[in-house]
Amino acid sequence: MSASQGARKVGIVGVGKIALDQHIPSIEETQLFALGALVSQRGIGRPGVPTFRSLGEMLAACPDVEAVAICTPPDIRHGLAREALAAGRHVLLEKPPAATTTELRDLVAAARDTRRTLFATWHSQHNAAVEAARARLAGRQVRSIQVTWKEDVRRWHPGQEWIWQAGGFGVFDPGINALSILTRILPFPLFVERAELLFPAGRDTPIAASLSFRAPAEAGLREAGAEFDWRQEGEQTWTIAVETAEGTLLQLSRGGACLAVDGRVVAEEAEAEYRHIYRRFHALIEAGESDVDAAPLHLVADAFLVGRRCETAPFVW
Ligand code: NAP
Repeated sequence: MSASQGARKVGIVGVGKIALDQHIPSIEETQLFALGALVSQRGIGRPGVPTFRSLGEMLAACPDVEAVAICTPPDIRHGLAREALAAGRHVLLEKPPAATTTELRDLVAAARDTRRTLFATWHSQHNAAVEAARARLAGRQVRSIQVTWKEDVRRWHPGQEWIWQAGGFGVFDPGINALSILTRILPFPLFVERAELLFPAGRDTPIAASLSFRAPAEAGLREAGAEFDWRQEGEQTWTIAVETAEGTLLQLSRGGACLAVDGRVVAEEAEAEYRHIYRRFHALIEAGESDVDAAPLHLVADAFLVGRRCETAPFVW
């Protein structure tokens, strides 16, 4: 099917880094959707695609745009998603799906009431290696889990002031990706036992976080922790190591793109997360269903609830 023949029209709200790097190319490549409109405060455009300054203007002018992908920072996602659902449009949410757990619950209810599809995307979950890890851990006990998510904030979020403002998540913006993998692959729930959150002086959100988890006794878990740090220069690390009760070591690396079992690579895929996301969104709309996994957001909220707050050196870009 070509993009112009029968593809559903989707509009993008917030034409920033992720919209340009991933959403627009993935929409074009999968051809299940056609880019029907953009909503950009700064007026960012694409040839042949109308750009609007507000979602309201777009909804009024483009009744044929059936779906909306919300790619703004998380603190304004709830209002935008509600507005789109109320106008009868299907909604795809970038991660994190909302700024608070109550907002997300409200969106689930709004999607149900309007009978529209709501898809809370967790891009890291859409890796073949993550699915392979989930299959290998199904029904198993796990002895230990270690998450190491260390990256350079200046490299991946250049100039993005919103990440330092309340509701911007700080280092949990990438860290929630690791948590979304854990909640997907583990056959039992995790609880945040302790958290130490490191806030740069004068900033609202943490630059680093150290978490420890526990699980129900039947899971067999002895040790589980996560280290999130935005101050990593040089090599960037996004790894999860899980050791089963039998002593098998599963290592997910490159943010979930590669799985090695006892040192041997068993699943690896070139970057395809966002193409999978648009295929899934299309299938959900066709089936009249929603897909909202709130668990990663709950873990972040819990880390803030039980976390100990410490101050560190001011952050300057
Ligand atoms: P970004 O580059 O700052 O883009 C966000 C865009 O949203 C802005 O450029 C702006 O575009 C629009 N916007 C609307 N209201 C805004 C406000 N109050 N403050 C700032 N921008 C506002 O951010 P991003 O990296 O694309 O991240 C957006 C979301 O995608 C985040 O939730 C993030 O976690 C997620 N994400 C990002 C990445 C990544 O690699 N960067 C990867 C996966 C997921 P207009 O001027 O066009 O309105």
